[in-house]
Amino acid sequence: MLDTTFTVIDLEWNSALPGSKAPTRERDMMFEIIEIGAIRLSSRLDVTGAFHSNVRPVLYRRMHRHIAKLTGRTEQSLRSGDRFPVVYRQMLDFIGEKAILASWGHSDPEVLKSNIEYFQLEKPTSWLALDLQQLFSTLAEDTSSKDQRSVEYALDFLNLPKDLPFHEALSDARYAARIFQATLAPFKASCDKSAVSIYMEKIRPFLYDPWVNRQYTQTVTLTKTDEPLDVLKKTAFACPACDNKLKIIHKPLTSGWRIVKKGRTWFALGRCVTHGRCEILAKRNGTKEKSYLSVRVRIPR
Ligand SMILES: [Zn+2]
Repeated sequence: MLDTTFTVIDLEWNSALPGSKAPTRERDMMFEIIEIGAIRLSSRLDVTGAFHSNVRPVLYRRMHRHIAKLTGRTEQSLRSGDRFPVVYRQMLDFIGEKAILASWGHSDPEVLKSNIEYFQLEKPTSWLALDLQQLFSTLAEDTSSKDQRSVEYALDFLNLPKDLPFHEALSDARYAARIFQATLAPFKASCDKSAVSIYMEKIRPFLYDPWVNRQYTQTVTLTKTDEPLDVLKKTAFACPACDNKLKIIHKPLTSGWRIVKKGRTWFALGRCVTHGRCEILAKRNGTKEKSYLSVRVRIPR
């Protein structure tokens, strides 16, 4: 793992305007990248380069009000920069083949993936992803709390300077890189192993494959006489990542499916031989005459 480098990425994206009708293909790309910021780090976490580029959107060319407010970007600025396929190629050159893509939370790798798929570009499957938000909460803050901490919170917690603007791709990437360095700094000289191997040991539990599909939603139609729980027990669900049939986990004294909210919500755990535990959550929707179950199958992180 010695030659593995890290790249901290931060993306800004635009989305459809409220009330505007979405063309069918748009469903693949809910968020379109308009800016990419990235900081490259060596395996010893020293900064070795910076990358920044605006991306000229093809789908959402009108600036969403909330995004304009958050990023300070103008509609005019959406006309600057190259199209995603060009910027993506430059970004690949910058990051390199074997890299760990670090980001604050899970959203950036997901949005990057959807944009790559939309433009039908090649995925660098040798990349792994690292969630810095989770790394920070567990190692620096020492909490298993599921609260999603902001970058600003983490900077304050670690006594790091807030000398750059927020919600700009490059400065947010720089901030996240500083949090990454500061979170691992206390482990640097804890024993005689090299810093690199200690870092990898600490990071490993937080690595994941960004290309694996972790979630899908399935609709199950109900007839007037159907009892939702019976229907759920008879329906087969597949693993989001590999499509293999899930085996419903039965715990002692309980059936696999349990009621969360009577007549409305049900839950079960399934198991995929390759991808492990999956959560299956079913909610009843629709009218009395025409009701259906909306079932979300998810591989937890
Ligand atoms: Zn699977």
